[in-house]
Amino acid sequence: MTPHNRRGRRSAESSIVQTLSLRSAFRPAAHRLANILSKAYVAGPELRDAVAAMDRFGRLGYATTLGYFNADDELPSRIAELDRAALEALSEGPRRGYVSIKVPALQFDAALVDQIALASRRTGVGIHFDSHGIEAADATFKSIAVALRQTQRVGCTLPARWQRSQDDAKRATELGLRVRIVKGQWADPAAPDLDPRANYLQLVDRLAGRARTVAVATHDPVLAREALRRLRAAGTPCELELLFGLPMRPCLALAKEERIPVCIYVPFGQGWMPYALSQLRKKPGMALWMMKDLAAAAALRVRG
Ligand SMILES: Cc1cc2nc3c(=O)[nH]c(=O)nc-3n(C[C@H](O)[C@H](O)[C@H](O)COP(=O)(O)OP(=O)(O)OC[C@H]3O[C@@H](n4cnc5c(N)ncnc54)[C@H](O)[C@@H]3O)c2cc1C
Repeated sequence: MTPHNRRGRRSAESSIVQTLSLRSAFRPAAHRLANILSKAYVAGPELRDAVAAMDRFGRLGYATTLGYFNADDELPSRIAELDRAALEALSEGPRRGYVSIKVPALQFDAALVDQIALASRRTGVGIHFDSHGIEAADATFKSIAVALRQTQRVGCTLPARWQRSQDDAKRATELGLRVRIVKGQWADPAAPDLDPRANYLQLVDRLAGRARTVAVATHDPVLAREALRRLRAAGTPCELELLFGLPMRPCLALAKEERIPVCIYVPFGQGWMPYALSQLRKKPGMALWMMKDLAAAAALRVRG
């Protein structure tokens, strides 16, 4: 572990301790717990940390999405370089998966998107466009068009919290994109009360029988089960996509029961930590789920 890496891990631990809000008498135990959680739920700032997590998941039979979460002051050219390095890493040996990119961080620079798409074509590893605030959606689809000039292995993300996603679903099937459906982190200002679960299933219905491949990206096992059932009934290739850092156990059990392929999104970089901690703060009960996940993973390792 590099000093930079150690610093990142220490700040992760202390933030988790604060998040758990434990009284001072319990601080040593809180630090031990935070240490375990930060190691198990944060791949780390470097690509090699994400690669180590990817190889652990690979041994369990899961594919990986590698996604770089940049810090605010990073240059777009540096971010693009890391995206290309992630493509190279995924192309080695038996690794399976794709690279997720954040085009606002690249300032929607067509030349940088083109370079990443070229690297995707050369390595044979797909690229996927994460979704961001709704104001970035049109520019993201323009970047997708740039990438499609180099490679057909391109995916987009459709947030269920946006009204426009229904039209974007049609566009995605026409372009032959791999689609990931998420609830979405950002609301649609024109439809703040849109029910994300209901809209999620409407998106599934729009894509079923039409889309190339659909990734059902949610940690909500009830929603995941219904979405996957509808896609399979229509004969649409589908998978369950989970985020490293959110509780996974119920959805992994569902995937095993239904024999659904699983892909785990492994974020790396300094920008990931604020997101991970905001999730923990919003739902402190997640710490308990995480511990249950860890126990299940340990049992898997013992049996494996
Ligand atoms: C692979 C992946 C990629 C993503 N990419 C993007 C992106 O590009 N853009 C974007 O805006 N957002 C993205 N997201 C985030 C997404 O939009 C949501 O914010 C996030 O997934 C939380 O929503 P959820 O549906 O997973 O679970 P939530 O409904 O937020 O629930 C959180 C937790 O509650 C538990 N839970 C929920 N429902 C149930 C239930 N019925 N029974 C038991 N437990 C339950 C689960 O353990 C879950 O971890 C991504 C998420 C994933 C998984």
